[in-house]
Amino acid sequence: MRAEERIDADMRVVVLGLGKSGSAAVRYLSAQGVKVGVSEYREQGQLSSEELALITEHSVELETGGHSEQFCTDTDCIVVSPGVPLDLPVLVAARQQGIPILGELALAADEIRVPVIAVTGSNGKTTVTGLIGHLLQAAGKTVFVGGNIGTPILEYLINPEGFEVVVLELSSFQLESAGSFRPDMALLLNLSPDHLDWHGTMERYVGAKRKIFAHQGKGDTAIIGADDPLVMVKSKTTEETTAETVLTFGTEPGCRSIIKSASIQLRPGFGDNSTSEKYPLSATGLASRVNRYNAAAAVLAARSFGCSQRDIQAGLADFQPPLHRMTPVAEINGVFFVNDSKATNVGAVLAALAGFDNRVILIVGGRDKGSDFAPLVPVVQRHVKELVLIGEAGSTLARVLGDVVTHRFADSMENAVQQGFEAADAGETVLLAPACASFDMFKNYEQRGDVFTQCVLDLQSRVEGDRCG
Ligand code: ADP
Repeated sequence: MRAEERIDADMRVVVLGLGKSGSAAVRYLSAQGVKVGVSEYREQGQLSSEELALITEHSVELETGGHSEQFCTDTDCIVVSPGVPLDLPVLVAARQQGIPILGELALAADEIRVPVIAVTGSNGKTTVTGLIGHLLQAAGKTVFVGGNIGTPILEYLINPEGFEVVVLELSSFQLESAGSFRPDMALLLNLSPDHLDWHGTMERYVGAKRKIFAHQGKGDTAIIGADDPLVMVKSKTTEETTAETVLTFGTEPGCRSIIKSASIQLRPGFGDNSTSEKYPLSATGLASRVNRYNAAAAVLAARSFGCSQRDIQAGLADFQPPLHRMTPVAEINGVFFVNDSKATNVGAVLAALAGFDNRVILIVGGRDKGSDFAPLVPVVQRHVKELVLIGEAGSTLARVLGDVVTHRFADSMENAVQQGFEAADAGETVLLAPACASFDMFKNYEQRGDVFTQCVLDLQSRVEGDRCG
C-alpha cells in the first residue's frame, strides 16, 4: 500500500457519495476509529431510513444537496464511491491541494489477508464471478463473492473471519480509483464500448479496465480473453502485463483454455495431469455460446487456483446462471422467447446474436448510453429477421439499422412481445437484447426482464387458452 493510501485513526476522511458502497465505507472507516464526513449530492429528504440511521449511529458529519469545496477539502483523505466522476470540481481542487483520493479498492488494497481473484470486462463479469465462486465452493473452499455485485469489498473487511478466498467483480468505475490494488489472479474477459457517456473515450474506458493488471507481479496470474480483438490489440494486454503467469482462453488451439462446440478443453499441465482435460457443458446451464466463454475463463481460474478436475465438473453441473442473461422463457407454437435484458451494450448484443444459427426477431432499444450502434449492422444483417424497436433509442436504431432489415415500433413491452410473436415462424426465436439502459421505461434491467417474462407468459396463456377453447 502506498503511504497516501494508509488510514489512521486520527484522520478526518470524507466519503463522497453514499449508496451501498459509500455506506460500507462509512462502516469500515468508523470501525478504524476515523472521523467520517459524508458529502452526498441527494437532498437529505431523499436519503433512505437505513442511510440516515447509519449517519446517526456513527456520528457522521453530513453534507447533502451537493459537494462543497470547504467540506471536501478540509480533510486528510477522500474516499469516492464507484460512479462518482473523478473530474468533479471538488475532486480537482482536492487533488491540487495534495489530498489523496481513494476508491474502495485502494482502501482495501493491503488489508485483504487471503488470496483475491478479480474479474473485469465489458460483459460476463457477474456470470464469471459467480461461477468462480461456485466452483471454489464445490472444491470445499469458503468464498467471499462480492464487489460490484452483492456485497461491497469493504463489508468483507469489516467481517473477514472464515473466508479463505475473495472473488470480486470489478467495474471500470471501481478500477479507475483502485490505487495499488493487486489481485493474486486477475481476469479481463472482453472489451466492447460501454459507459462512454461517463468515461468520455474508449481509451479511458480501456485504460480503466487494464488497471486490474497494473500492480501484478511475481506469483500473480493474469487470465485474458484471447478472442477479443480489443483485449489483445488495443490494450496490448499480453505483452504489457507484469503478472508472472499469463493464461489465455478462447477458440484458438494455442489458448490454455480452449472453447469447443460443447465443452471446454484445458491444455495439459495442471496439477500432475500430463494430458488435456475435458469439461463437457451440454448438460449444464452453460451451453450457450456466451456462457462457454464464461465457463472457459472460470474453469481456467479455478483449476489454476488448485481445484481438482472432479470438483470443477461437479460445480459446472449444478451452476445456475444468473437471470436476465440469455434466459429461456417459454416456447409458444414453436417460437422460443429468450430474455437477455442485461444486454445493455452493443457488445453483449453482438455476442448474443452470434450464438444463433437461425435468424431471430430482436427486441431492441431503451435509453441510449451514447453508444455507437453501427457495429450492429453486419451482425443484424446476418442474424436478424426483423427488429422490434422500443424506447427512446427506437428512432436512432431505425436510422442506423432501418435499411438493413424490416423494423416495427412498439410502445410497450406487451406490444413488443405480441409483434415479435407475429413476426416469428415456428423454430425461430424472439430475443430481448436491448443494447441500451432500461431507465426510460423501467426501474432497472431486472424489471425490464421481469415485465418481458410476464408478457410472454400471458401471451402463452392466451394462445394455449385459444387452442383449448
Ligand atoms: P456483466 O456483469 O459484465 O454485466 P453479465 O454476466 O451480467 O455481465 O452479463 C451481461 C450481458 O452480457 C448479458 O446480456 C449476457 O448475456 C452477456 N454476456 C455474458 N457473458 C458474456 C460474454 N462472455 N461475452 C459477451 N457477452 C456476454
